[in-house]
Amino acid sequence: GLFLDRIERLNPTLNAFVTVDRDRTLAQAAEADARRAAGEGGPLLGIPLAHKDIFCTEGWLTTCGSKMLHNFISPYDATVVARLKQAGMVTLGKLNMDEFAMGSSNETSYFGPVKNPWDVNRVPGGSSGGSAAAIAARLSPVVTGTDTGGSIRQPASLCGLTGLKPTYGVVSRYGMIAFASSLDQAGPMAKSAEDCAWLLNAMAGFDERDSTSLQRETEDYLRELNQPLAGLRIGLPREFFGAGMDDDVRTAVEAALEQYRQLGASTVEISLPNSGLSVPAYYVIAPAEASSNLSRFDGVRYGHRAAEYADLADMYSKTRAEGFGTEVQRRILIGTYVLSHGYYDAYYLQAQKIRRLIANDFVEAFKVCDVIASPASPSVAFRFGEKSADPVQMYLSDIYTISTNLAGLPGMSLPCGFGQGGMPVGLQLIGNWFGEARMLNVAHQYQ
Ligand code: GLN
Repeated sequence: GLFLDRIERLNPTLNAFVTVDRDRTLAQAAEADARRAAGEGGPLLGIPLAHKDIFCTEGWLTTCGSKMLHNFISPYDATVVARLKQAGMVTLGKLNMDEFAMGSSNETSYFGPVKNPWDVNRVPGGSSGGSAAAIAARLSPVVTGTDTGGSIRQPASLCGLTGLKPTYGVVSRYGMIAFASSLDQAGPMAKSAEDCAWLLNAMAGFDERDSTSLQRETEDYLRELNQPLAGLRIGLPREFFGAGMDDDVRTAVEAALEQYRQLGASTVEISLPNSGLSVPAYYVIAPAEASSNLSRFDGVRYGHRAAEYADLADMYSKTRAEGFGTEVQRRILIGTYVLSHGYYDAYYLQAQKIRRLIANDFVEAFKVCDVIASPASPSVAFRFGEKSADPVQMYLSDIYTISTNLAGLPGMSLPCGFGQGGMPVGLQLIGNWFGEARMLNVAHQYQ
């Protein structure tokens, strides 16, 4: 009730939630109470959370921030949603996001931009901007997000939170509306690393309904939280600490690294020589996969359909022209182009080769360090409109986060002080494959 009241009061300003359903939420809360009364007592039982609107939730509107799905009520739960429900968590609602998770500022949502609770003239980051704003404004204690190229870490950074993208394959993608299937990964966002660990414990695990889900032993992501950091080697990629980063961000990140040295860690310079190619490679691969994934939105089975059309082809084209926003259409065009006969070798295949080189850079780097640190974003939260007119400017918001997705590595962002305008700065940690527990340990030890 407390959170629902707060949402009612603050959401008209912040626009973090697309859907709230008080009755449904209270019914779930009553169910959690009954489970507790019956002697059940899992750590997450009765704790409220909210889901990014990319997760299918049975009986709830699931829009993915798009007009295309503005009226889509999901008939089933995504695995992430089902697992958290099973743990007894209570859904407060569905969170606003960039349309089909394409964006870094939440300005591409069909439902309007989300405001950053720290300064409502600034963006919350994206694409999980509603998720980040909801926690920052205390509308929900924890939330789910997804990260294809930084969409958990960048908004967490811009809103002063902790967010984690797991190793690719650790969390099921079943029921999570696909953007770029080989990069998409769901993860938790919260106020602390410890809360992220609790949530990840419930989210992670093999799922036979996702062919890219990994069959591994279940882990307790809390197990290393309190381990001392003495002897830890933090790698600092030379390429990430050059030009392109704002001074206020640099100052905050360097202060955080100094604190880690005080805690007994050492920093080593490393090199990720191909990281300069990560943005161009990503903006070929992600649109290519998106153009294929989004072909299912044709107005036939669900979602928006144009009111008038001459024949089937006309229905498809009108439906898609009306249903998709500018950024989504841009990506579909880029994706179709780079996959087309005659350009495939020059763009898509080339980008796949670069992706391999980027992953190999990390293999080399982790021979001399345990975790990699960098800023999560080159600047603090920017103002509305500042980057939306120039897609390339917007794409560069992701320079520090994208290579992690291309390599399938786990990454997180944690708050590390404040920059210009008193806005939060985020420190990014990148772990080795399946290094979530160690990464959470490093984040948890930071004061
Ligand atoms: N900002 C990046 C993009 O627009 C990443 C988005 C994401 O991680 N979903 O593609």
